[in-house]
Amino acid sequence: MSLASGRTYLAIPGPSVMPDAVLQAMHQPAPNIYEGDLVKMVDGIIPDLRKVARTDGHVAIYICNGHGAWEAVLSNTVGAGEKVLVLATGRFGHGWADMADGLGIELEVINFGTKAPVDANRVLEALAADTEKKIKAVLMVHVDTSSSVRSEVPPVRAAIDAADHPALLMVDCIASMGCDRYEMDAWGADVTITASQKGLMTPPGIAFAFFNDRAAEVRKAMPRVSRYWDWTERANPEMFYQYFGGTAPTHHLFALRKALDIIHDEGMENIWKRHATLAKAVWTAVDVWGSGGPMTMNIADPANRSHAVTALRLGFPHGERLRTWCAENAGVTLGIGLGMSEEGDPKGHGFFRFGHMGHVNAHMILGLLGVVEAGLKALDIPHNAGGVGAAAEFIAQATLPAS
Ligand SMILES: *Cc1c(COP(=O)(O)O)cnc(C)c1O
Repeated sequence: MSLASGRTYLAIPGPSVMPDAVLQAMHQPAPNIYEGDLVKMVDGIIPDLRKVARTDGHVAIYICNGHGAWEAVLSNTVGAGEKVLVLATGRFGHGWADMADGLGIELEVINFGTKAPVDANRVLEALAADTEKKIKAVLMVHVDTSSSVRSEVPPVRAAIDAADHPALLMVDCIASMGCDRYEMDAWGADVTITASQKGLMTPPGIAFAFFNDRAAEVRKAMPRVSRYWDWTERANPEMFYQYFGGTAPTHHLFALRKALDIIHDEGMENIWKRHATLAKAVWTAVDVWGSGGPMTMNIADPANRSHAVTALRLGFPHGERLRTWCAENAGVTLGIGLGMSEEGDPKGHGFFRFGHMGHVNAHMILGLLGVVEAGLKALDIPHNAGGVGAAAEFIAQATLPAS
């Protein structure tokens, strides 16, 4: 029998679970887009976005998904025939590179594979070798959502500085923002992008570019920028419509306003701590299960693991079997393995992912882990029992006052 009837849980790495208050904020008639409350609301959203990214820089909002944000920031800073250095740590660096390729930008890709973070020494080597300073920007992904690896940003900044290289540092924080600690200004990123549907708990459809004065200067020197992607007026509008290059995404903005209220009521430090603690509870369970069976985490070193998503391997075809079991019997949807095919498993059916980004708390994570443990038993997949108990113990300890 299926036990799936009840509130379902979408535990994929985006779109993430939306708070009921965010959903309800959208349930209202269309507002006036020329004056009044909406205009005031958007003026207030900008500083609250800055606080999430930890920057005093400029903010541009786009009506698009993360792919659009990739293209937006490239369009403002790198021309056709110019060059970028792409640091690929899984699927998404290659995706950004592909976007650049479509714009006629020349690519140099350092491929770190699917199991390791960026090695800043190799960035330094590549930049030092660029004696003519042709590389205009270094593109890195803070958290790669397919591999669940997290790369450190400050060492990449240090490598750019050590090479005395003028390239802009552009960081994709689509999976990490509002989940893993990120400090744009302190860490020296020139450009940061994110999208609405992950840590920001808002429906997919709006995306954000944060940029500093250095990046703004690079934009000013561009001979031509596509009008729609141009961030200049979006970040400094004289008329309200210029924020969006047209009609405001009204109901996304209502949702975002509520989500930012929820985020800042909790506080960034607390949000980062909650995600770190819940991620560790997940890893605790997986360590127990994996000690008696084939389940492994894709990223071996906890220091390099994201707090927003965990990629796992169970071996063909058990990843797919487990995902199906959880959805059909327990109302929990796990993420598919992305970009993880291997010999004998061209579709990556041995892999799956837990999304634990945004609006997640202890009961959701313990429910998720309980369902997975039940699935392992029902499917007779070898594992050590007791993963859920160990995670519960970890969460209990985490709630105790620090001694
Ligand atoms: C989700 C994601 C993207 C792509 O975002 P879309 O909204 O699907 O276009 C890009 N980069 C990272 C790191 C992501 O997690």
